[in-house]
Amino acid sequence: MLFALEHYHRPRTLAEAGEQLASDSGARVLGGGTRILTSRDDSVRSLVDVTGLGLDGLELGGEEPFLGATARLQDLVDAPAVQGYYGGILSEAAYLSNPSRLKRNVATVAGEILEAGRLGVLSAVALALGARLVVHDEGECDLEEVHVNGLSGIVTAIRLEPEGEGRTIGFDTVSVVETSNPMALSVAWVEVDSGKVVSSRIVMGAIGPHPVRLRAVEEILQGESPDVALIERAARDGLEGVQIGDRPGLSGDYLCHLVRVTVRGALSKATGIVGT
Ligand SMILES: Cc1cc2nc3c(=O)[nH]c(=O)nc-3n(C[C@H](O)[C@H](O)[C@H](O)COP(=O)(O)OP(=O)(O)OC[C@H]3O[C@@H](n4cnc5c(N)ncnc54)[C@H](O)[C@@H]3O)c2cc1C
Repeated sequence: MLFALEHYHRPRTLAEAGEQLASDSGARVLGGGTRILTSRDDSVRSLVDVTGLGLDGLELGGEEPFLGATARLQDLVDAPAVQGYYGGILSEAAYLSNPSRLKRNVATVAGEILEAGRLGVLSAVALALGARLVVHDEGECDLEEVHVNGLSGIVTAIRLEPEGEGRTIGFDTVSVVETSNPMALSVAWVEVDSGKVVSSRIVMGAIGPHPVRLRAVEEILQGESPDVALIERAARDGLEGVQIGDRPGLSGDYLCHLVRVTVRGALSKATGIVGT
């Protein structure tokens, strides 16, 4: 509950929304409200509702794919354009992001990607797809930087990697049941040219406050030909320096083992190499 809330704004233009946000240090952007309206934050004095500004487009074909900031999670599940992009990974991630259809019909893409924290499947997939947030009046920001440093402006869209020859993505999770929060989650986006990995983004989710790139795994893959041995080595050696704290009922060592399993699984799915 926002006990200090005094004003609700429903701007008609993005410029108006930007002014309302900038004019009050206690103003926050309101997306679907499933997080912010249920939080206890007494610094929030006004809300700027951006859901009526037409920022809900979904463009996944072509060279500059993007998700509109206020598209609903359920739109990602349902839209044929999203289902056809990278084998429907965003539709699957949006579905897994929240088991309740009711909440998926309300929660927005930007709200989920910014706030879902360590549990966010969509957030991890977006990071692996090279997400760049388009922020009103500020230009583009890298999602990883925003997760670390926060953000004060209005996200209007999330730009993603276009599909292309040799580019694939896969993700793997370990959960008690399919729709429960994952204990470990990895996403692998890989680009292969002439049989060699020329670029990759490997992301660990579900551990820590937000998803992170596993750059040591990416370095091991770079320039190599993907096969069972490479995937094994990347998942083993690439995670050597990763420290994970204990959680109730789960030791850090065991969580690290689960991450290793999901990195292997995500790479197998992305490259189509089975047997790991
Ligand atoms: C009961 C409950 C259960 C939940 N369960 C889960 C769960 O199982 N898994 C999970 O991942 N999450 C869960 N959540 C969290 C929540 O559903 C997600 O974080 C949600 O997707 C947020 O989206 P929203 O549009 O409702 O965001 P909002 O609540 O509107 O906003 C969230 C934050 O993002 C900011 N924001 C929103 N849109 C923009 C924008 N365009 N530009 C800049 N900033 C913006 C807001 O200022 C706010 O700080 C749960 C929440 C509740 C209340």
